Amino acid sequence: MLEQEIKSQLNEYLKLLENDLVLKVQIGSDKVSQEVDELVNEIASMSDRITIEPGDFPRTPSFSINQKGSEDSGVVFAGVPLGHEFTSLVLALLQVSGRPPKTDEKVIEQIKQLEGPLHFETYVSLSCQNCPDVVQALNLMSVVNPAITHTMVEGSAFKEEVESKDVMAVPAVFLNGESFINGRQTLESILETLGSTVDISELNDKEAFDVLVVGGGPAGASAAIYAARKGIRTGIVAERFGGQVQDTMGIENFITTKYTEGPKLVANLEEHVRDYDVDIMNSMRAKSLAKKDLFELELENGATLKSKTVIVSTGARWRNIGVPGEAEFKNKGVAYCPHCDGPIFEGKDVAVVGGGNSGIEAAIDLAGIVKHVTVLEFLPELKADKVLQERLFSLPNVTVITNARTSEIYGSDKVEGIRYVDRETEEEHTVELAGVFIQIGLVPNTEWLEGTVDRSKFGEILVDKRGATSVPGIFAAGDCTDSAYKQIIISMGSGATASLGAFDHLIRN
Ligand SMILES: Cc1cc2nc3c(=O)[nH]c(=O)nc-3n(C[C@H](O)[C@H](O)[C@H](O)COP(=O)(O)OP(=O)(O)OC[C@H]3O[C@@H](n4cnc5c(N)ncnc54)[C@H](O)[C@@H]3O)c2cc1C
Repeated sequence: MLEQEIKSQLNEYLKLLENDLVLKVQIGSDKVSQEVDELVNEIASMSDRITIEPGDFPRTPSFSINQKGSEDSGVVFAGVPLGHEFTSLVLALLQVSGRPPKTDEKVIEQIKQLEGPLHFETYVSLSCQNCPDVVQALNLMSVVNPAITHTMVEGSAFKEEVESKDVMAVPAVFLNGESFINGRQTLESILETLGSTVDISELNDKEAFDVLVVGGGPAGASAAIYAARKGIRTGIVAERFGGQVQDTMGIENFITTKYTEGPKLVANLEEHVRDYDVDIMNSMRAKSLAKKDLFELELENGATLKSKTVIVSTGARWRNIGVPGEAEFKNKGVAYCPHCDGPIFEGKDVAVVGGGNSGIEAAIDLAGIVKHVTVLEFLPELKADKVLQERLFSLPNVTVITNARTSEIYGSDKVEGIRYVDRETEEEHTVELAGVFIQIGLVPNTEWLEGTVDRSKFGEILVDKRGATSVPGIFAAGDCTDSAYKQIIISMGSGATASLGAFDHLIRN
């Protein structure tokens, strides 16, 4: 069942098992059960530390991973954890066996303090790149705290359940049977939602930094590495390490690497940053920045960090269309991530709003899964690259409507259709459908700097050739700036530039 390359990777990982494992398995006679049966048997055949026993679970097929002779870990997979969830499976095997996770001791302590019972269930699709973060965080929580259990539910194997629970975006997490959270999360943000907060006195007491980077995407990671290599005190605050790259499928233009995938590149970025003496503060959001004796960065959690210089690299996020129904039906049919949520709309009609490269790529991907895709573009023609347009127009289940101003997304408890106005005739039209994917570009994450540094009319931070902003000592890099092009390699370059600029500033002041 496993491809040879994956099998040899798994072989290497299984050598790292700390204790013997028992996989408890419940299967039926259906196709997915056969796949699960094949998978667990293949894993067990690769290590004499793993045995299989029958299990008892509410869903068929399911299997749990447990340490031999210990209480059950609570880590359960319902369906086949391959695709993007393969890493979740490998990590679960290692962590349940007793291998310590690469997680801050303070966070582990926070998990141990949680009071149960907390039974989590996460609905995923195997093509979702945001799902493994959530699955891995909750699996880790189950391993660390016996009052916590977690079941990953592979949506396509349990379609009726997905429909009955109205899951329209993944990952969708339920806690003790009630809807808990949707969409991408980190371990820290899950803990925060559970009411377990970080001790901000430790943050307030931190010695001032020489360079404090705000944002952990390619620009921030590169800025932090360049600063740390100068031997100066460097910190990095990020709401979500990896930034947009976490949401990227294939990357083919990262020079020296012919092909990689977002999460893999993010793992490499993090590993590279961790190689240096950089204080990484993840899952923390900057709220404001003020110049006093030093720069003071206020965080949403109430803490304040001090630094001699600051590099802002807060990147960008999906732009909303701002029509009635968009906010109301978010995760109820309105989606922004085709790779994550596309499979949920299998066999249904959807629309993609936006005819640029990301919109047309989304439409092409979705056309392979859903029944029909309607592309709505505001301008008289699509803006996507010719090669993408050619691919799109070769597909039988796509309709392209240009000159269309989206006016409303409507429904009752979930999306039932979209309305648009033909900009030539001013006539309103309705398309009945189940999902709307919005792909109309990005906005810079710079609102929190209102009144602090000069920004363009689009909100982009204005920088000079050294990455310096209008305030001496504040530098900026990447997609949050007015750089002409927004790409990974460009962000990394500008992160390096801003870092060298900050170092020069420190020497001269
Ligand atoms: C779907 C998709 C596909 C793409 N494909 C490619 C591709 O194939 N090749 C390519 O070169 N480029 C691609 N790009 C573009 C590329 O991902 C971006 O140009 C690049 O990630 C920008 O890096 P950045 O570090 O400037 O910002 P981001 O990647 O946006 O990172 C911003 C960071 O700042 C953090 N942050 C935001 N606000 C705050 C705050 N208030 N406080 C603290 N932290 C904050 C975020 O959590 C994140 O860590 C793609 C983008 C998308 C969305």
